[in-house]
Amino acid sequence: QANLASGGYAIYAGGQEQEHMRRLALMGDLHRAVREHELRLFCQPKVDIASRRVCGAEALVRWQHPQHGSVRTAEFIQLAEEAGTITPLTNWMLEAAFSQIYAWHEAGLDWPLAINLSGHDLYDPRLTERIRGLFATWGIAPELIQFELTESALMANPAAGLETLIHLKQLGVKLFIDDYGTGYSSLSYLQKLPVDGVKIDQSFVMPMVVNGNSATIVSSTIELGHNLGLTVVAEGVESAAIWHRLVALKCDVAQGYLISMPMPAAQCQAWNSTWSQN
Ligand code: C2E
Ligand code: CA
Ligand code: CA
Ligand code: CA
Repeated sequence: QANLASGGYAIYAGGQEQEHMRRLALMGDLHRAVREHELRLFCQPKVDIASRRVCGAEALVRWQHPQHGSVRTAEFIQLAEEAGTITPLTNWMLEAAFSQIYAWHEAGLDWPLAINLSGHDLYDPRLTERIRGLFATWGIAPELIQFELTESALMANPAAGLETLIHLKQLGVKLFIDDYGTGYSSLSYLQKLPVDGVKIDQSFVMPMVVNGNSATIVSSTIELGHNLGLTVVAEGVESAAIWHRLVALKCDVAQGYLISMPMPAAQCQAWNSTWSQN
């Protein structure tokens, strides 16, 4: 048997059961991870395509597990969402992001930072007050905070989601629809929400130079997004070929490995000086 109490991980012959036990153990460990400072704030720059200037970054959590090394982010986020334990992680991220923006500002770097919110966060009645408190504590300009929300998170409960979005907008932050294209909602519906932009999912951006259908989805999203007055961000910009197509399509913002991998927040200033020089 797996010894969960001591945090041990037994090796099972049966794949499914092993996977199940591993997930259970990880979920328990996530609480400890937040408490014991095992989480790290990584940032990935976003670049304004027309000017090639950095226009902000996305905040991405990393978990360095004491026994298991780094745990895949998408995996433990999904586990926390399923288990309904995302709130402590969101609170950790909010604190980390605000204190990082403060530190950058002191050092002369004013990058807007985009924080990912989960569906569960949108239905947390205390979220807006918590964020308002962080603004008061850190004295940060509202333009420096953005939030990214997926369509599926919003669609789970559109009425409650809309209410949270309205409250967040009142704080003066910018809101983006994340992973656009992977859900079922139309841009014209999303435009009824108080959002400032959309991020086209990387599953359309990455193959856009080899797959005609992906290219069509990307170009029509950019066109419709612009007609609706939205900022359009492409994520998963991995190659110069993709970048050049996005330039031609007049996409607003690019994010991806071509520009930079996500990096520890403390490295962003050095990266920024190198980027600004070329
Ligand atoms: P996301 O919000 O769609 O974030 C973009 C993901 O794509 C990140 O994965 C990023 O490292 C990766 N990526 C960026 N550029 C490229 C590229 O050019 N090519 C490829 N193949 N991938 C690229 P990451 O950091 O592993 O995060 C995975 C997901 O976990 C995120 O997807 C987001 O949904 C979630 N996540 C991360 N941090 C947080 C957080 O603090 N809170 C919440 N609720 N979710 C988070
Ligand atoms: Ca995101
Ligand atoms: Ca995304
Ligand atoms: Ca994603």
